[in-house]
Amino acid sequence: MENKNKTIDDIIKKMKMNRKKTNTGLILKAYNFAEEHHRGQKRLSGEDYIIHPLNVAYLLAELHMDDATICAALLHDVVEDTNITNEEIQNAFGTEVAEMVAGVTKLSKIRYVTIEEEQVENYRKMFLAMGKDIRVILIKLADRLHNMRTLSNLKRDRQIANAKETMELYAPLANRLGIYSLKWELEDLAFRYLYPEEYREIVMSIEKKREERIEFIDRIKEEIRIALKKQKIVAEVTGRAKHLYSIYRKMQRDNITIDQVYDLFALRIIVNSVKDCYAALGVVHDLYTPMPGRFKDYIAVPKPNMYQSIHNTLIRTKGNTI
Ligand code: MN
Repeated sequence: MENKNKTIDDIIKKMKMNRKKTNTGLILKAYNFAEEHHRGQKRLSGEDYIIHPLNVAYLLAELHMDDATICAALLHDVVEDTNITNEEIQNAFGTEVAEMVAGVTKLSKIRYVTIEEEQVENYRKMFLAMGKDIRVILIKLADRLHNMRTLSNLKRDRQIANAKETMELYAPLANRLGIYSLKWELEDLAFRYLYPEEYREIVMSIEKKREERIEFIDRIKEEIRIALKKQKIVAEVTGRAKHLYSIYRKMQRDNITIDQVYDLFALRIIVNSVKDCYAALGVVHDLYTPMPGRFKDYIAVPKPNMYQSIHNTLIRTKGNTI
């Protein structure tokens, strides 16, 4: 899961792909500023420190974030780890960027309580530190994700402490904000360090059946695409393997082995309207049998973060589940 390190060119390319306008000059200025002031500092991996803010900024570019957020991400450790002050950031990059950097710096100084019952207190501290700007939390989540991706360089006790904090604090936060791509990866990485044996077991048993599963899912995708097309529903059909931690949780909760986990992978059908969503549901119900008690309608009952979709588990002939 340790992705290749990103460069400033990768970031600018990604930003131009995702947004109409990108202030390349400003991004380069922030990069040069961070690179200059972190120069000589190393990460525990032995690499130059600048690779960390670069990777954090790239993660945010992937989330379509704006110029100011990318700048703040590139600069997010400058005030904490070099002798640059927040005033200097303000003078060079303006109030918006400086306030975000200050927010991230404040967040890193919070001492969190680990007991679950006091989660509310943790969130209170975080929201206080970030001010009114939700982008501060997004930078912090990207910062945590890159640190989790590179956690293998830390000693075992630090790995466990960081993984625990990620599982208890950051993954639920990403979930609340509806940034599921971050939530899943944070959870899977934390799981890997908190329960290494269980993690390896699941990875290995999934790996074994990998090819057979890819073939199966490709066949299902095609069936659905053809059926949707017949009904003139414009849709994007994608497949993804279920996340490791959710498989593990299910095994624990239902006290079952991995062979008994039905929905090892999931399909996603993205349509343009609510009407099409229900129409697509009709199409898949025509093809496969719904499993009782698994239907969730987040359109009729939307989640607080505005997430809208329908979740369902379906059975295909011969007991294969999607
Ligand atoms: Mn950082």
